Amino acid sequence: MRLYTDALIITNDSEDRVIEAGCIGVEDESIVFVGHTKDAPRDVEERISLAHRVVMPGLIVAHTHLYSFLARGLAPSVAPENFVGVLEHVWWRLDQALGPDDVYWSAMGGAVSALLRGTTTLIDHHASPSCIGGSLEKIAIALGQVGIRGALSYEITDRHGHEGAMAGMEENLRGMALAARSPGWLAARMGLHASFTLDDATLDAVAGQGCGVHVHVAEDRADVTASVERFGETPLQRLSRRGLLSPESIIVHGVHLTGDEMQTLASSKAFLVHNPRSNMNNGVGAADLAAMASAGIPLAIGTDGMGPDPGPEVMTALVLVRHEQGDPAAGWDLVRHAYCAGNAELASRTFGRTLGRLEVGAEADFVVRVYDPPTPLTPATWWGHFLFGLSESPVDRVVVGGRELVRGGEAVWLDAEMIWRACREQAGKLWSRW
Ligand SMILES: [Zn+2]
Repeated sequence: MRLYTDALIITNDSEDRVIEAGCIGVEDESIVFVGHTKDAPRDVEERISLAHRVVMPGLIVAHTHLYSFLARGLAPSVAPENFVGVLEHVWWRLDQALGPDDVYWSAMGGAVSALLRGTTTLIDHHASPSCIGGSLEKIAIALGQVGIRGALSYEITDRHGHEGAMAGMEENLRGMALAARSPGWLAARMGLHASFTLDDATLDAVAGQGCGVHVHVAEDRADVTASVERFGETPLQRLSRRGLLSPESIIVHGVHLTGDEMQTLASSKAFLVHNPRSNMNNGVGAADLAAMASAGIPLAIGTDGMGPDPGPEVMTALVLVRHEQGDPAAGWDLVRHAYCAGNAELASRTFGRTLGRLEVGAEADFVVRVYDPPTPLTPATWWGHFLFGLSESPVDRVVVGGRELVRGGEAVWLDAEMIWRACREQAGKLWSRW
């Protein structure tokens, strides 16, 4: 057993314990002890002191797009007029330009930057229409080399005809087969882009597979309008009628859901992943998080590719609720519950392991931060510390599945400089094709 001692531990467990001079014992991939250092087992192989450090569960990103990583700094030559313009001038040009090496290096760069910020689990949504077959394996290889957990999905779309859509479905099935070979480390969902780029025949074919989906829904009003005009149903109705809403499904955004649709979604027990920075960045509106929570929809928080860790996203979720409601007291428990309970539950459900909690039997996924709290850090105050300082504090160590992947803020097993150099070279090639 390896013991991490003398740390201030935020457990996010069922009792939401915060343990001063705390200790975590790790054996193989799991946590075997959480408690006070003075009560820890004596006969251990290794003891690592974490004085003046805070340990918390590894961060979880509930929705992201690793393929966007090499687009950092890339600006469209035409200013997009609206959300569909953003897709047409930026993301659909980018995804079409992606080749297998771009997919690999995007995933590598995205996963390493996430790891260095304390993220240990990512739920990814991938698109590369010029190289669909084998693309998820490229991502799986990168995730495996970095050592973090990742859920795979390929965004099926009819933008490139029905054949392209079916190739996307095949790739998702390959992703599921890959995930079955790495239980607990890889997971997979049937990815779908969004209702307005999906024909009925494609949705019918996906429904025939009988598995959970991962799909953007009502992100912009254009998704709703186009679906109603072409199919006579809203995006959520199209999914619901085909049985595609289930506890295994991940519905992303939901900015333009009606009250009735929120009820439908709640009764399906599918997760809704909120990505406030992306919504604000695209000018699509603000999801009504409070209404969704009151309807009983399980909520989680993603970054939609906007950044490597959920810290800034969680803060944005809070201030957006307050901004929208004109209420400086709104959202505190709502956003806390969405991230702390929601992301942990969604990740645990997706990977079939206990993730996002530091308790005996959970996977040993945690981040150690250099943070000497300047004010009392207790069960009642830790969320305030997280929002206003802890989430921005330097990362010292990151442990995933019992393996220490980051030490002293640096990747232990990877040559990060080499990876950034390779990413820059790959981005140069990608941008010239873009
Ligand atoms: Zn997205």
